[in-house]
Amino acid sequence: MALRLGQITLILALLLSSFAGRAQDESDYRLTNVTDDVFRFTAGNYHALVIKTDDGIVLIDPLNTRAASWIKKTVAERFNKPITHLIYSHSHPDHAYGGEVFDDGNTVLVSHQDARANLKRVRADTALPSLVFNDTLTLFAGGKDITLTYYGPTNGYGNVAVHVQPDDVMFVVDWVVVGRLPYKDLMGYDLEGTLRATEKLLKQPFTHFVGGHADMGNKDDVNAYYKYIQTLHNSVLEGILAGKSLKDIQRSQPMAEFSSLKMYDEWVELNIKGAYEQLVSRSYLKMRESASGQ
Ligand SMILES: [Zn+2]
Repeated sequence: MALRLGQITLILALLLSSFAGRAQDESDYRLTNVTDDVFRFTAGNYHALVIKTDDGIVLIDPLNTRAASWIKKTVAERFNKPITHLIYSHSHPDHAYGGEVFDDGNTVLVSHQDARANLKRVRADTALPSLVFNDTLTLFAGGKDITLTYYGPTNGYGNVAVHVQPDDVMFVVDWVVVGRLPYKDLMGYDLEGTLRATEKLLKQPFTHFVGGHADMGNKDDVNAYYKYIQTLHNSVLEGILAGKSLKDIQRSQPMAEFSSLKMYDEWVELNIKGAYEQLVSRSYLKMRESASGQ
């Protein structure tokens, strides 16, 4: 059957748009050296970590099925090594989905016990880890010591910091963000837990910092991030204790010294709102007699 010109044009347009869609997604994918053996895998606004060991590759976070398939193919071509371990940094679906790509019997899947429990509880569409831990776990993998540490509740369930030696790279997802504001209204964050965890993280030595979003950096950058969330917490709390409304606190611009960070104009009021709502609800600040006007 002969196709009319209109049909051919439509088919071509569909082919081109699907190709463009795929190309656009994968053109957002890239591997960047952090050290000789440690790479940041970027997929759009997300970053995962790829560690080359003498025995194979250790991947932290599959991100999603398409990104996971791309990184599996890419490391096979580039390094000619198997993926020996997949570590989930935490339970959130936008970082932990795609794990089924590595569920082929060749890769050990690892997470904190709370991350696995949450993935199971919510029937997450990814592969469940076969190895979990409570406080800390070190993988001695092909000449690299990869230490996973849980510093308490931060964002998501079982969210761990990963330290790679001898490269001295620290990888943290969502609860430390370098060069950019934390996401919008701090959905899912435990702000006080994040402060405590970041204090503990800063007691550890490390040279390179890689986050699951935004910029790479060093320990000074993590210190600067700590100062941001500490200022956010303290200024919003002081505002509430002084009887100010959310609008009053936002108008007083308590975070102005951080205005050079990315997404400041877009998200600073949302950050303040998120901190305000968390502080009010967790500490029952509106249930106090002085706040009730009696
Ligand atoms: Zn995230």
